[in-house]
Amino acid sequence: NYHRFVIDTAGRGSVGGKVPLGLKRKGLRIVVTGGAGFVGSHLVDRLIARGDSVIVVDNFFTGRKENVMHHFGNPNFELIRHDVVEPILLEVDQIYHLACPASPVHYKFNPVKTIKTNVVGTLNMLGLAKRVGARFLLTSTSEVYGDPLQHPQVETYWGNVNPIGVRSCYDEGKRTAETLTMDYHRGAQVEVRIARIFNTYGPRMCIDDGRVVSNFVAQALRKEPLTVYGDGKQTRSFQYVSDLVEGLMRLMEGEHIGPFNLGNPGEFTMLELANVVQETIDPNAKIEFRPNTEDDPHKRKPDITRAKELLGWEPKISLRQGLPLMVSDFQKRIFDDQSDATT
Ligand code: NAD
Ligand code: UDP
Ligand code: UDP
Repeated sequence: NYHRFVIDTAGRGSVGGKVPLGLKRKGLRIVVTGGAGFVGSHLVDRLIARGDSVIVVDNFFTGRKENVMHHFGNPNFELIRHDVVEPILLEVDQIYHLACPASPVHYKFNPVKTIKTNVVGTLNMLGLAKRVGARFLLTSTSEVYGDPLQHPQVETYWGNVNPIGVRSCYDEGKRTAETLTMDYHRGAQVEVRIARIFNTYGPRMCIDDGRVVSNFVAQALRKEPLTVYGDGKQTRSFQYVSDLVEGLMRLMEGEHIGPFNLGNPGEFTMLELANVVQETIDPNAKIEFRPNTEDDPHKRKPDITRAKELLGWEPKISLRQGLPLMVSDFQKRIFDDQSDATT
């Protein structure tokens, strides 16, 4: 156990063992896979601020160095360009496993790669967790509920997923990742946590990643029409990124495996979302209807009773409060740095 930190801060997850004086350190060693991405980079900011040592493992498929560059030079921060589909040896206390493209446009781009990332990538990170005795947190998704027949979605619902559709590489990939996570827990006693994340938005989202909030915000700022897919009556529930990061950290530090829904129960149709974007950015922004994508879930809204009761967590930032925080980031990236706007 000499290679592990002793946790001497009350309330933190602990890895036991007698460690010689001199090796006693505050703070945890934490891997964040996908840490150069949208959610991951915000999580890294919080962990670094808390005094932990963070290793980001990312292949930069959808992530960007710019998201974590402000930590370069900090001895508590390390960035490794690595694809989680390949094995890796690290010595750590906790693993936040986020590596996986999240936007439908990105995850459909190379579906087989998406499956490999979810299955082989998750297997490797669980193998790592088993070898070093680290606690492992999987960022799963509300997509495991598919096109849900129960509304709102409770964690006990098993979902309605098309196994052979264009979204399956992601939906079924994450479902298998959940299965692997539970099998490593049952079979190898790995300490695990599972979060089912609902649609999240905020600064540092890829500007042109095709997700609805980033699309509408970028379109309104560029004076382009907002592209509503289908009839616009389908719903989503949008969570601001800082609320999610708080939920992920509470889940990791807490005593419960989950799965836990982490999302904001405020539910909007895409037309209502377009209206909020118009109110926030440009009341004259036009709306343009486009054909919807295949297998698009009709509605989605988290039941967060379990997270409220067991993690003491609930989101604090409404869509109308959170959107302006994202708009200022997009404004800067679209207009101040034209080179970035096209990436
Ligand atoms: P993102 O695309 O911004 O970040 C994903 C990161 O993973 C990127 O930095 C990317 O380069 C990296 N990555 C992808 N494949 C990799 C691989 N094979 N090896 C190493 N790194 C790899 O997406 P995000 O919104 O930050 O999502 C983070 C996690 O949260 C994902 O696992 C996603 O499935 C989950 N999630 C997000 C949302 C959401 O609304 N943002 C909703 C549900 C679930
Ligand atoms: N693995 C890894 N890093 C480690 C330990 C394991 O990447 O520190 C990978 C390993 O290469 C394997 C996977 O995780 O592909 C599962 O490992 P495990 O030991 O559970 O299974 P096994 O190697 O026995 O198949
Ligand atoms: N959508 C839309 N206009 C866009 C992008 C997406 O109306 O420019 C719709 C999409 O059809 C879906 C919803 O917005 O019904 C959410 O899509 P997104 O890709 O953001 O995430 P999902 O929840 O589908 O993973």
